[in-house]
Amino acid sequence: NAAALGQAVIPIVNKLQDIFAQLGGNSTIELPQVAVVGSQSSGKSSVLEALVGRDFLPRGSDICTRRPLVLQLVKTSRRADGSAGEEYGEFLHLPQRKFFDFTEIRREIQAETDREAGGNKGVSDKQIRLKIYSPNVLDITLVDLPGITKVPVGDQPSDIEARIRTMILSYIKFPSCLILAVTPANADLANSDALQIAGLADPDGYRTIGVITKLDIMDRGTDARKFLLGKVIPLRLGYVGVVNRSQEDINKNRSIKDALAFEEEFFRKTPAYNGLADRCGLPQLAKKLNQILVQHIKAALPALKSRISSDLVAVAKEHQSYGEITESKAGQGALLLNILTKFSEAFCSMVEGKNEAMSTS
Ligand code: GDP
Ligand code: MG
Repeated sequence: NAAALGQAVIPIVNKLQDIFAQLGGNSTIELPQVAVVGSQSSGKSSVLEALVGRDFLPRGSDICTRRPLVLQLVKTSRRADGSAGEEYGEFLHLPQRKFFDFTEIRREIQAETDREAGGNKGVSDKQIRLKIYSPNVLDITLVDLPGITKVPVGDQPSDIEARIRTMILSYIKFPSCLILAVTPANADLANSDALQIAGLADPDGYRTIGVITKLDIMDRGTDARKFLLGKVIPLRLGYVGVVNRSQEDINKNRSIKDALAFEEEFFRKTPAYNGLADRCGLPQLAKKLNQILVQHIKAALPALKSRISSDLVAVAKEHQSYGEITESKAGQGALLLNILTKFSEAFCSMVEGKNEAMSTS
C-alpha cells in the first residue's frame, strides 16, 4: 500500500530491534503517538484509516467517533516459512478474541461506543483500546478522537463543545504527541478549529502537521493552493492536501486502492495543484510522517548508545565477579555496541542524504 505509514521506517526499526533483542533488557526506541484533531466530519477517521491501509473505522456524515479510539499497531514477524503472518485486531475489553475480519472490528467499535455512550449521539471520554497485529505495520499508537462540535444534538449535554475540547487537549498536550490537524477544504480554512486547538497545545508548531481534506468538493472556482503553501496560516511542518473517500464511495464499498488511484488522478488533472506534488496526496502525508519519525529515531540514538555503554560496563563488572567463563557476555556486549555504533553512523549519513542504502556490515 503506497500510502501506508511506516514504509520507510519499518526496516530501520526492525534492524534496531534485532540489535536490541540480542542485548536483552528493554532498551528500545519509543515512537511518538499520532493524534487526529479537527471539527466533526472533517475526515479525521478517513485519514487515519488510509494511513493504516485497512478499512475498519466508523466513518460518516453524522457523528461517528464518539469515544477516543487508541489504536496500537503491533508489528508481528514473518512466519518461519517466510510467508506474511496474519493480520488481526484485539480489543482490550474483549481479551481472548481475535478479529480477523476488519468489518467485524468496525462493528465492534460501534457496539462498544453505544455500550458506553448510548445510542443517541452521546460522547464519552472513556477510551476504546484496539490493537492491530500485522507484519505490515510499525509499532506506533494512533489516536482517533471525536470532532469538535458546537451545537448539542441527541443526548449530548449543553456544554458538549467544552467537553470535547478538554478531551482532545488531554491527548495532544503531551510533547511526544504528533498532531494531525485536519481541516476540510469546503469550510472556511482560516477559521480552522483544528489549527486553533493544535495551536493551544503546540504554540510553536513543532509537532503539528496541517491536513486539508475534501479538496475534491471545494466550491467551483476556488482552490486550497495558498493554504497548502502556508500563505494563510504558516505552519512549521507544513500542510498536505488529501482526497479521501466520499460518503458515496463508503456506501459503495470503494476500496482504499481505488480511492488512492482517484486521488492521484484528481491532483494530476487539477491545474491549481500543479507543482505542489510534495504537498498533495495521502502517500505524501505518510512520507512526511515517516520523515518525522526518522528524525525522531535519529535524535534518540545517542541516548540509546550511552545507555548500552553503561549496561556494558555493568555487565563487565558482573562478569569479573564470576571469574573465568568461556562464553564472554562482556565480549558479546562489546560486539553489539560496535554494531550499534556502526548502525547509527550509517543511519545518520543516510538521513543526511550522503548514502542511499544503509549497511552495518
Ligand atoms: P471525522 O468525523 O472527522 O472522523 O470524518 P469522517 O472520516 O468520518 O468523514 C466524514 C464524512 O466526510 C464521510 O462521509 C466521508 O466520506 C467524507 N469525507 C472525508 N474526507 C473526504 C474527502 O476528502 N472528500 C470527500 N468527497 N468526502 C470526504
Ligand atoms: Mg471520526
